[in-house]
Amino acid sequence: MKEAAKIIFPNIDKNRDYYEGKYSERALKEDAIVTRYAPSPTGHIHIGNLFSCLIGRKISKDTNGIFYLRIEDTDGKREIENGIEGIIKDLHDFDILFDEGAISKNECFGSYGPYIQSERKEIYQTYIKDLLEKGLAYVSFLTPEEKEKMTALQERTKQRIGYYGPFATDRYLTEEEVIQKIKEGKPYVIRLKSMGNFDKRFVHNDLIKGKVEFPENDMDIVIMKGDGLPTYHFAHVIDDHLMHTTHVIRGEDWLSSIPVHHELWQTLEFKEPKYAHTPLLMKIDEEGVKRKLSKRKDPEAAISFYDQEGIPVQAVCLYLMTVANSNFEEFLLHNKDKGIDDFVFDFKKMSKSGALFDVEKLKNISRNYLSTLKAIDIYDALVHFTQKYDEEFYRLITKYKEETISVLNIEREQKKPRKDFYAYGDIRNQIWYMYDELFEPKYYEWGTISDAKEILSILKVYIEKYWDETDDENTWFQKLKDLSEEFGYAREVKEYKQNPEFYKGHVGDISMVIRVALTSKAMTPNLYDIVSILGKNRIEKRISLIEEKYR
Ligand code: GLU
Repeated sequence: MKEAAKIIFPNIDKNRDYYEGKYSERALKEDAIVTRYAPSPTGHIHIGNLFSCLIGRKISKDTNGIFYLRIEDTDGKREIENGIEGIIKDLHDFDILFDEGAISKNECFGSYGPYIQSERKEIYQTYIKDLLEKGLAYVSFLTPEEKEKMTALQERTKQRIGYYGPFATDRYLTEEEVIQKIKEGKPYVIRLKSMGNFDKRFVHNDLIKGKVEFPENDMDIVIMKGDGLPTYHFAHVIDDHLMHTTHVIRGEDWLSSIPVHHELWQTLEFKEPKYAHTPLLMKIDEEGVKRKLSKRKDPEAAISFYDQEGIPVQAVCLYLMTVANSNFEEFLLHNKDKGIDDFVFDFKKMSKSGALFDVEKLKNISRNYLSTLKAIDIYDALVHFTQKYDEEFYRLITKYKEETISVLNIEREQKKPRKDFYAYGDIRNQIWYMYDELFEPKYYEWGTISDAKEILSILKVYIEKYWDETDDENTWFQKLKDLSEEFGYAREVKEYKQNPEFYKGHVGDISMVIRVALTSKAMTPNLYDIVSILGKNRIEKRISLIEEKYR
């Protein structure tokens, strides 16, 4: 079909050798992994995409390989406005850095580009032209009506649906017929002339799924659409070949395309890369049913969710790594100061089908992660978060910067640090009472002591007789014990437990009264730190609120 090829591709003046020479082998060590993240600009990134992306980044980094970003935008119908920018922003927010690839809609870096498929039309067409000339592809004029008829017949006669074997009649058009139809302006596509036999089977060796048997492909799939752009199947093979991808890591929804891809690699006479099909992320829903995480139903499926909640990206990445390799959690437990980079990832340890994604577990990992940070780092991130999502709190924490850092520093940098918040968006819920502007004593659950008079006198005696702001924690606590004794409560819990009939309660009940009065909460971090930060005046003010309430 040399003549037809010339008519279809009048401007293609290069050949395969040109591109094979231009994109020569990468100078990397033999075991270096070259892989890519190849999203289509159809909307924001889904947590499942991020999952595959992290694995790609991890294995390329571990082997001193290359991780690049390729934008797969050959399907204009599915593309959304600013789709590319959205993806690049999402990746940037997650600190995912690439060694090569697209950096904006019009800009790429690296020697194997362009990395945006719509800019690679000439490359694809060069290879398609070559296949046409060799008789390995052909021009097809199948109209939508003819296709519909064919499908109806296949359904009626219970045959496989598609353009193959006896149905692929355009295979037999002569070059003259093809040229004639093109001249008549008939719309056309270019199809692969499949050599496969559906009755023959082959084994695909997937890095995650293991050995999977498939029938050979015998479909004459479209490789170039009417708009001159290739289909995903064809484009990915050309790109992964010319960009020297060693490992294709992608979602398991592509596994069923393996027969087509396998044939394309062979027809084009390229070396096939290794494939790793990552499992879909699943969740257990309210009814206890395990189902696919859905962008429509589950907010946690969209990665914007984590930004809005203020869950640190590091925690999301740590969690995704535990989903990828369940032994990662144990690794972290035994190696407190280590992270993803120190862990040896293993494809074999991945779940072969649906991996469970559990937001509660993610939140716990986030709690642990946040507990390891310094107060100043939490503060900086909190400023950043509130600036975007909580203006009122932003104003307060920047007005009371030093105090906020002290509050965040309570029970931090110690053996068992506080773990009361899982996200930057959760901090306000845990420390609001430290700001007079927000403090509004809504409820008092005093614990054992419930008599208003007793409560008031405990508080008054505490501040008048036992308060001294120079006290260290030990002295402060001794004074709480003195206060307890004065009111007939045991100095030690143990004493009380031995002889409960001698006491009204114990020191714990007394500190509960102080805690609840000052914070309106029954559980807070270390009370000594709280009272030290509040100081005498503010403590007195809060006590007078209680006086008003019980007057
Ligand atoms: N562009 C494809 C998608 O967004 C990616 C498949 C691949 O990584 O090869 O689903």
